[in-house]
Amino acid sequence: MSITRTDQYFFNWINGGQAESEKAMPVLNPATGEMIGRVPDLDEASVRNAVDSAYRAFPSWAALPARERSRYLNDWAQRIEQDREQLARLLSLEQGKPLREALGEIAGTADIIRWYAEEGKRAYGEIIPASNAGQQLLVYREPVGVVGLITPMNFPAATVARKVAPALAAGCTVILKPAESTPMIALALFRRLMETELPAGVANLVTGDASVIGQCLMSDARVRKISFTGSTKVGKRLMEQAAQSVKKVSLELGGNSPAIVFPDADLDKAAADLAANKFENCGQVCNGINLIYAHEDIRDALIAKLLPIVQALKVAPGDVPGADIGPLINERAVEKVERLVRDAVAKGANILAGGERLTGDGFAAGYFYAPTLLSNVKRDMSITHEEIFGPVATVLTFKTEEEVLANANDTAYGLASYVYTSDFTRIHRIIQGLQTGNIGVNGTSLAYTQAPFGGIKESGIGREGGRQGLEEFMSLKYVALTTV
Ligand code: NAP
Repeated sequence: MSITRTDQYFFNWINGGQAESEKAMPVLNPATGEMIGRVPDLDEASVRNAVDSAYRAFPSWAALPARERSRYLNDWAQRIEQDREQLARLLSLEQGKPLREALGEIAGTADIIRWYAEEGKRAYGEIIPASNAGQQLLVYREPVGVVGLITPMNFPAATVARKVAPALAAGCTVILKPAESTPMIALALFRRLMETELPAGVANLVTGDASVIGQCLMSDARVRKISFTGSTKVGKRLMEQAAQSVKKVSLELGGNSPAIVFPDADLDKAAADLAANKFENCGQVCNGINLIYAHEDIRDALIAKLLPIVQALKVAPGDVPGADIGPLINERAVEKVERLVRDAVAKGANILAGGERLTGDGFAAGYFYAPTLLSNVKRDMSITHEEIFGPVATVLTFKTEEEVLANANDTAYGLASYVYTSDFTRIHRIIQGLQTGNIGVNGTSLAYTQAPFGGIKESGIGREGGRQGLEEFMSLKYVALTTV
């Protein structure tokens, strides 16, 4: 099946079979506004059906030896790798990111699945030295049960793998709800999962109204965990709803990530890294840099290196060869970026590049915003407090380490931070001082499959990646066993 610009209908997956509904939801290409596909708009009864089937499938899936669960996951990864090009084209078409980035995301998706296929075999328990003779204190690790997985639009393939793979490896059964704007890649990945002949009901995928599906999953006491990646606003709501049946929650939420550049940094490397991080996926990256704090002594030199990089970025639909930046996901995303830039400029920021929506030839029907560099950004601007989630780099200035640490921490978020310096003792102080879940020192790459990624404060609870990502789907059972 090759993906074209024609309308395609993608079925949901419930209890191992294709599920559809009378109502369908359109999926649009954000570069053109054209409808590229339709997915079911499920009603409450169908979502309940998905929970029923996951609940029924749980005991035998949980009882399966980890090695056997691993085989399904490896088979799934192989099918994704085989169809990498085709899946990447679908991802790029639906989400807007350049094909080069989409190819990387699909490769990463398979890599995550393979990693958890192995890690599931290492979910070890523990034996604790007992206090009394003839006694053993044992700790078992068990799968949590049925889990609801809710994924965002920015990495709509990788986030599926980051949740489904550890959940299945742990022995949980799942109901996945992808974002409304990017359900097709999740459905295409699921089709390949179903081709592994996974037992019916182990993995289910539902699309439709977020509040209907959310309410259904959250109000059902059989769903024992919710793993959510998305905005802090929705995450807070889910956390409130989870309280009703005391579900376990993992929340991977928004950020307001600072990058701090000291005078002793390698400025060429810093400029290249900051631009690569900031403009990846059109700025729609949770750990994307929101604020660049440049020391006053090197501010102009750093801007002089950043500016030509920003000016050279090629904006185009994701399938155009050489595209560096595609469109934003929708009109609301463009309006948010416009509002933040307008507010910053009104309060004294200078536009060095971009600063406007692109509307000319090839851009008119899509959601394109020019790669933007703002200087003279100050702490009283909305852009310094809200997650931009768009292709806008902001430069602020600082004088002292104490001042920049205080400003970097003055936010409700705590997802990622970056620092560029060659002073080892300063690196140590900054690592201690930053209130954040993840730190990049002299580099901005953070998301590695084997490492525990996640936020503190209003950026989230729990970790994805690494053994910790598997543990999120397990609960401990402690047994005091008296043998005599
Ligand atoms: P979003 O608007 O919060 O949506 C995320 C998911 O939640 C979507 O599937 C959405 O469905 C669903 N949803 C919305 N309302 C819901 C409700 N009442 N009940 C249940 N589900 C509901 O976020 P997004 O725009 O897709 O993604 C961007 C955000 O994700 C950013 O803030 C970014 O920082 C964050 N993010 C964080 C990480 C991390 O690791 N920390 C990674 C990636 C992204 P619909 O699309 O159908 O509304």
